[in-house]
Amino acid sequence: MKFKSINFTCKNCGAPLRFSPIEESLKCEFCQSSETIDSSLEEIKEYDLSKALSELNRHQEKEITKEVKCSKCSATFKMNPYSFSANCPYCRTPAIIEFVKEITPQSLLPFQLSQKEAKEAFKRWIGSLWFAPSKLTKFLTDNEELKGYYLPHWTYDAKTVSDYYGQRGDIYYVTVERTAIVDGREIRQRVQEPRVRWTPVSGRVYNEFDDITIGASKTISYAILDNLSPWYTERLVPFNEKYLAGFTSEEYTIGLDNGFELAKVKMSKIIYQSVRQDIGGDQQQITSLKTDYYDTSYKNVLFPVWTAQFKWKNRTYNYAINAQTGKVSGERPYSWLKIALVTVTLSSSIGGAIYLDKHPQVIEKASQLIHLLSVNFS
Ligand SMILES: [Zn+2]
Ligand SMILES: [Zn+2]
Repeated sequence: MKFKSINFTCKNCGAPLRFSPIEESLKCEFCQSSETIDSSLEEIKEYDLSKALSELNRHQEKEITKEVKCSKCSATFKMNPYSFSANCPYCRTPAIIEFVKEITPQSLLPFQLSQKEAKEAFKRWIGSLWFAPSKLTKFLTDNEELKGYYLPHWTYDAKTVSDYYGQRGDIYYVTVERTAIVDGREIRQRVQEPRVRWTPVSGRVYNEFDDITIGASKTISYAILDNLSPWYTERLVPFNEKYLAGFTSEEYTIGLDNGFELAKVKMSKIIYQSVRQDIGGDQQQITSLKTDYYDTSYKNVLFPVWTAQFKWKNRTYNYAINAQTGKVSGERPYSWLKIALVTVTLSSSIGGAIYLDKHPQVIEKASQLIHLLSVNFS
């Protein structure tokens, strides 16, 4: 399929304009003049989810080949099938084309972090990590290029009503007789022992969710993308192509329906908590839980992400930076030497065993590390 592209040009010198996160406006790289983006008063709307799901075209979408003609140099180039903005590979001019998906983004969060700020955030992150090889921080030079993406996300609002059955556990103490040895003599002792009294319970809890965010792109792994949250959606602005100039923008590859299933997983964690709270007592068991969703709505939005990868000892590590908050998420290498040093310190000190005993999460972390290390270095 052939696409015509648009770009924005400098009124002063005719060169292409790009969105500048620092100036929050379009900027000309050649004469440095800038053009402000008119702020829109249009409200950010929520859309009825059940209506959209019932109307959604369920035919398998064919992946199309996008042949884009650059508006500046007239060269034709292939754009990623799910991208709708990218730079021309020949002259670097931003090229923005029309959408092909049924649902299009109506709002976005503009890039707030420049590439330079994103690199600084990444260096702080890698420097703060336990067990990161010292050389790595030095190895990541300023020459490394980050890629700026507007990645599609779904946000879901929902009200829920959940009916549950379960057991409430209350701890009580009983006095029992035990045999103990004191000064080499066997004696009978009375001690207090805890017991749990279980009572069957049932009930109903209500929850309300606002902007549960689900990444709808497969360009970076779901885990890395999800870990970039929170996103401050109160700063969404109405969709305007000008914010995209210079960045790669994508349409969703995870659909509205599958996105909602992922959102339900996130909501269920909160629902479980409120059921436990509703049951009360010292311990809770949930034997059945049925949740109905109502007043559901959604938005299709674009969030700004800087991504990159680095090679370290023959392995590639991917990472991403939230270009609104500077939060970093990604894979990371470990230093054998640092782990060995910590292990030696822990096990040689008398407190080591006790420390590990009292901190099961340390043991868990250590076993995760050992697993990672055996994968990376064996
Ligand atoms: Zn200019
Ligand atoms: Zn071009």
